[in-house]
Amino acid sequence: MSIQVFGLAVSRGIAIGRAVLVASSRLDVAHYFVEPQAVEPEAERLRAALAAVANELSGMQDELPEDAPAELSALLDVHLMLLRDEALYAATRQWIVERRYNAEWALSAQLEVLARQFDEMEDVYLRERKADLEQVVERVLRALDEGRRPAAERAAERAARSDPGDRPETPLILVAGDISPADMLQFKQSVFVGFVTDVGGTASHTAIVARSMDIPAVVGARDASRVVRTDDWVIVDGDGGLVILNPSPIVLEEYRYRQRQSELERERLARLRNTPAVTLDGHAISLQANIEMPDDARVALEAGAVGVGLFRSEFLFMNRDGQLPGEDEQYEAYRTAVLAMRGLPVTIRTVDVGADKPLDGLSLSELRHEHQLNPALGLRAIRWSLAEPSMFRQQLRAILRASAHGPVRILLPMVGQLSEARQALEHLARARHQLTDAGRRFGYATLGLMVEVPAAAISLRSLLPLFDFVSIGTNDLVQYTLAIDRADEAVAHLYDPWNPAVLHLLGQTIETARQAGKDVSVCGEMAGDPAFTGVLLGMGLRSFSMHPARIATVKQSILRADLGHARRAVAEVLSSDDPQGCARRLGLTALPS
Ligand code: PEP
Ligand code: MG
Repeated sequence: MSIQVFGLAVSRGIAIGRAVLVASSRLDVAHYFVEPQAVEPEAERLRAALAAVANELSGMQDELPEDAPAELSALLDVHLMLLRDEALYAATRQWIVERRYNAEWALSAQLEVLARQFDEMEDVYLRERKADLEQVVERVLRALDEGRRPAAERAAERAARSDPGDRPETPLILVAGDISPADMLQFKQSVFVGFVTDVGGTASHTAIVARSMDIPAVVGARDASRVVRTDDWVIVDGDGGLVILNPSPIVLEEYRYRQRQSELERERLARLRNTPAVTLDGHAISLQANIEMPDDARVALEAGAVGVGLFRSEFLFMNRDGQLPGEDEQYEAYRTAVLAMRGLPVTIRTVDVGADKPLDGLSLSELRHEHQLNPALGLRAIRWSLAEPSMFRQQLRAILRASAHGPVRILLPMVGQLSEARQALEHLARARHQLTDAGRRFGYATLGLMVEVPAAAISLRSLLPLFDFVSIGTNDLVQYTLAIDRADEAVAHLYDPWNPAVLHLLGQTIETARQAGKDVSVCGEMAGDPAFTGVLLGMGLRSFSMHPARIATVKQSILRADLGHARRAVAEVLSSDDPQGCARRLGLTALPS
């Protein structure tokens, strides 16, 4: 039977494929396809891991002390029975042989299937055996995983996984309760054509990474992971925020048609790649890219970006099993991005961890159960860097060294007070001294202020003398102005960039920076949303930074815009109680996005 689940549309397009249901604790297992000739060795690897765990458990049983509680021995018996159940091996093997999933993925997929069967059992005792099965599978996953290898080696393997040219025919859609931004990043080069999560808001970092991958995604689809079953056919409507399970042939045909239409539209937009972004009345606008990893710089150039307006450096610090990248490793990463941009500017934001981007890759739901009372208001971004001064200077040194290879701009996230800006400047001066003393080559990097909290917008005049440029992080500016957690689907309907208070702060920030002769850009999601292009132009913005995938769409809006009209219309929009309606009436915005 066809079922619809509603959520939030966070990344456009239509994806059609079979569901891969993954519990968040098992998201970190490798997901890749094995080569046809590697299928049998992979099945053998699984058998060996099952045997190893069985040996381990029977060893434990043999060594149980005389006075050990009887329940313990009984528990080990149950675990051994589950392990030796030929059905577990046979069914898991089938995923490897038929789908060419790697062993870890196959085992997680089989666990999802079995867990459902346990959930549906009438008998309470049997139903509770699900927990035993999960524990056994965790052990086998550990036996399969070479988790004891260094993090960097594992990261390299992840990057090398899943050659897109070598994937079986059926497209796959990942359905999970939650996906952390770190896990999402890991899926960047992976096999999935769409994402669905139960939790998350439109401006959550998970949604942002999905958008940067240009893969249809729906978040906040509350019951999706409970309703969807592994291998169900699923349509992800990333435009409408809708997930359709087991669609009827008519619905499927309709969506295939829409999918083709949106691909045609993409191809049409791609032709704008080399067209300069100039308004109808001849004003040139700078369109830059937001990136998460150094290799994204290549994608940015291909999309026609004229620089990197935001390199979210914190993604280098995630998925590291606690081993943060040192100065040299960071330097290499920044240099890679700088060289890839071939003389165009690269804006590197210092680490912005905390809130929904924890270092240890926790997902949102896990994070909510952590002890931080209010992570979005806690030790995040520049506050975290200032609390970890040696790490901060290490990062600054790495960035300064990379700026010997091309124009680099340093951007400080979430500065709210003058004292924070002053401290950061002292660290920067010290980092320069340290490099000079060590005889290291480094370049001059300009320094930028990220306006993300109302305090920075309101006291901009006093902060500006310390900075060369300003970049407005509208995702957080909306969150903190309206006091709406950007990652919480329960209040997602209140997260409104059209709110007059937000627009006032934005307009005022752009105006103040321009009057002071400082370069100003917007790097939040509003910059990549054509619904806001006219408004931002009218406010005086001449520089936008967005995911590479959004550049062509925004460029199209710019090519159709008239700055004279935009300026006049914005004055009216800002004095209206209904800015969105007013902007639409005055022809300043495309259809709501
Ligand atoms: C923002 O807040 O708008 C921004 C660009 O930073 P991030 O989304 O990484 O918090
Ligand atoms: Mg931010």
